Amino acid sequence: MNVLTGEKRGLGLVEHRDFAGVPEEGMGLMRTVMVAHLIAPFFPKIVETNFGVTEKVFIDELYKYYGYRPPIFKMSEEIRIEKQKEEGEDLQKVEYASAHSGGLDSAYRLALMQEKKKPVVAVHLRNLNRKGNHEEFVASKKQCEEWKIPYELVRLRNNSKNDGFDTMRTRDFLLAIVSAVTVYPYGVSKVLVEGDMVEDPTKSHFSENAGAWKMFNKLIAEANLKMEVEGVDVGDIETVGEVIRLEKSLGMEIIPLVQNCFSATYQLPNSRRKWVRETPQIAKNSSEHWCGSCLKCRRMTMGRLLYQDPRFESVPKEEIAYFVKDTYDWLRKYRHNGDLVTASFLKHLEQLR
Ligand SMILES: [Zn+2]
Repeated sequence: MNVLTGEKRGLGLVEHRDFAGVPEEGMGLMRTVMVAHLIAPFFPKIVETNFGVTEKVFIDELYKYYGYRPPIFKMSEEIRIEKQKEEGEDLQKVEYASAHSGGLDSAYRLALMQEKKKPVVAVHLRNLNRKGNHEEFVASKKQCEEWKIPYELVRLRNNSKNDGFDTMRTRDFLLAIVSAVTVYPYGVSKVLVEGDMVEDPTKSHFSENAGAWKMFNKLIAEANLKMEVEGVDVGDIETVGEVIRLEKSLGMEIIPLVQNCFSATYQLPNSRRKWVRETPQIAKNSSEHWCGSCLKCRRMTMGRLLYQDPRFESVPKEEIAYFVKDTYDWLRKYRHNGDLVTASFLKHLEQLR
């Protein structure tokens, strides 16, 4: 498809289970959200596609949300209706699915389902973001193997220009619809994604907005997918506490397998070195694939100290004091983190002082 610049941009699924039996309307909704994800950085007035866009209302609502007039759609070729694939193997019915990045929040959702004894299938959408895709793939797969949870991998060919903060205009809708279509053959009735949807449109992107999700669930129902998407959320640092509680109640190892470090692989040894030197007990009991210094790693360390991860039992007061002081210094030094640092993060840091 073409966007403003005339450059051809693409987004496709290159590795996935076959979509046997998924209603055509469901596939149509997925194509529509993919188109939305491609055009969201640009808001072109005219959108040319080589397939029919069925749920135009989704794109109209996206445009209106950001104060644009809905675009005009043109079709460049005949609609190609791909031949329905043969029926896949019979899958055991699973009631829940969870979008699974391999990070703390998604690990929490899977563990919570385990605790409730609800069968769940994890869907990992690879290449959704600009960075860390390989690490997230490896971690998410390993987690599901250890926890014996069925795992579906969808590899996205992501040549979109949709990245940075503004990717949240559409990103989570793309994640939700690809997950929904992927798990359709399991007969899933609920797809779990990260929660924390915001009511106020001035304080949230389209794919973080409560009203937009309500509309989206209606579209999913109309597309005959027979499921709904639900956001699950406990908070920021609070989630670390919940995961520690779940580890104890399930006798499951979760924390060491979590992957959400922001640092690039080549930066990691350098960041770690400081923590090994200054806070040897914390470093020794923190996974090798964490840098210790990025926002996500600090969130983890803070939560584990406050919510008493047993692995941190032997951490001396001086190390905690060093961590707190260093984190305050880091907040001052990297003010651009302000957008990402939550009230929960600051409140817990204060408690640790
Ligand atoms: Zn990190």
